[in-house]
Amino acid sequence: MDRAELSIVCQQLGQPAFRGAQIARWLYDKGVRDFASMTNLPSGLREEIARSHSIFRCEVSAKARSADNATKYLLKLADAQTIESVLLPYPDRTSVCVSTQIGCPAGCVFCATAMCGFVRNLSAGEIADQVLTLQQDGGQRISHVVMMGMGEPLLNFDNVIKALHLLNDEIGIGMRRMTISSVGISPAIDKLRDLDLQITLAISLHAPEDNLRQKLVPVSRKYPLDELMRSCTDYTNHTRRRITFEYLLLAGVNDSVEQALALAELLRGSLCNVNLIPYNEVQGLDYKRPTRDAISAFRNVLQESGIEVTQRMERGHSISAACGQLRRRHISD
Ligand code: SAH
Repeated sequence: MDRAELSIVCQQLGQPAFRGAQIARWLYDKGVRDFASMTNLPSGLREEIARSHSIFRCEVSAKARSADNATKYLLKLADAQTIESVLLPYPDRTSVCVSTQIGCPAGCVFCATAMCGFVRNLSAGEIADQVLTLQQDGGQRISHVVMMGMGEPLLNFDNVIKALHLLNDEIGIGMRRMTISSVGISPAIDKLRDLDLQITLAISLHAPEDNLRQKLVPVSRKYPLDELMRSCTDYTNHTRRRITFEYLLLAGVNDSVEQALALAELLRGSLCNVNLIPYNEVQGLDYKRPTRDAISAFRNVLQESGIEVTQRMERGHSISAACGQLRRRHISD
């Protein structure tokens, strides 16, 4: 709940509305886990609200830290389901990668999360709580949030939008410092466009043509590339925000110079940049990361076509940091 919703609860209990803002500060600034700790509230209110409402916070059930200081968390929710979040400290900012669903229905053939199947959507509270929990556990203020953990954010649209508002209004993270990464659900991109948020939209493209894309990202059969590119162009025209196209590099599958040229052609004239993601190998899957030379050849083709290219920093390789790997390890243990 945000301040306004908490105020309504307080008013229903016969209390002044400002108590709602006080509770919000205890929840989102101090991160308390029970009403008894909210010492500036009358004790009667604390007891009464605790009878009708609960504070659900996740618990840290495992942590793995890599040599470069990325920490991957396995978090346990109220129903004992587990999700992953990653804390990524950089010199100039601290970023958290959050999950939006338990498992994922998109079925990407290279992805460890897809191997777990789909369990359920996360609530807005469960999404925002990951940031609060990592901020408290890591002892440093979070400046950036990327929704690139387990799940497909645009298939959990309402809860993801509500989580963005909670993170922005209550936890104080600027909209411009938040990113949603999606496989490209065109109707949801259209809905997002109309909300006109200042967030960054990242689209997992991974192939420059439908045939290969539909093999790698099966859910994309419903949203062919011409429809996806149409919704992306509408999105940038409307919001004036540049889209990031993510392109996972899989050796011998989508990393050839011809495919780089086709990608440059597909993106010609778009307000975008490309984020190249060298594959993090997943146990039990045959996909391989391309060689350094293949990665730079691919990158050069894009740059020579005038496309701005970034390459995902290689972090957390040693801690099963690829989407879904830590949860899988714990489930199979
Ligand atoms: N469902 C959303 C967000 C979660 S995945 C999406 O697909 O965008 C975030 C990114 O990590 C996606 O681009 C996804 O394709 C990529 N990814 C998944 N498994 C990976 C792996 N093993 N190595 C590298 N990137 C991976």
